[in-house]
Amino acid sequence: MPLKEKVPNQILYLACTAVEDVMGKNGINSILNYSGLQKYIGNYPPNDLNLETDSIDFTKLATGLVKIMGEGGSRSLMLRGGITGFEIMHRDFPSLFNIDGLKIEERTPDKLFDELIRIKGIMIAAAGGLFGEDIYKREERTDQLAYEIGPCFWCRGVKAKTPICHGEIGFNIATARLVLGRDTEVEETHCIAKGDPACRFVIHRPKA
Ligand SMILES: [Zn+2]
Repeated sequence: MPLKEKVPNQILYLACTAVEDVMGKNGINSILNYSGLQKYIGNYPPNDLNLETDSIDFTKLATGLVKIMGEGGSRSLMLRGGITGFEIMHRDFPSLFNIDGLKIEERTPDKLFDELIRIKGIMIAAAGGLFGEDIYKREERTDQLAYEIGPCFWCRGVKAKTPICHGEIGFNIATARLVLGRDTEVEETHCIAKGDPACRFVIHRPKA
């Protein structure tokens, strides 16, 4: 199944706002300019759920960062962009995914990780609804939470030597930070951009 053609305006709104937060106005404007997305300069999509944004524009923004900054240079920016994107989303829609009802201090680290697996399940289902129902594959394991995206809205059309979907990693880092109350290791082990059949993300259960 291919990726959906249209996504809610909010997705690109969040992406532009997060990149602006990390790189400043000039930074986001040059990325938009370089990526052929001039129509969004000073004119982000509205923060609503109307299906009026081309999903390829999200990919152009993400891959534009990689093309301008290089694979190494884009890494920390995209990580921070993904973290900021999640934080803005959670600030604006605190009830999304019901994360706020968690009483972190009353739960053991293992219970919190089980909770993270449950919440990520809801988020992956929601993201599938937005980007394409069949692009996500989850894997059940107890020591880690792993899932694949393919085709991938972060890196489609781009070739690279290393995994480049750091925005997804940042999003997962921020989700895990909120649910677990601490940081845990998140990695992209496979990436379509470097020739793998899918992009694979792993969130490791924190070691006690
Ligand atoms: Zn990837």
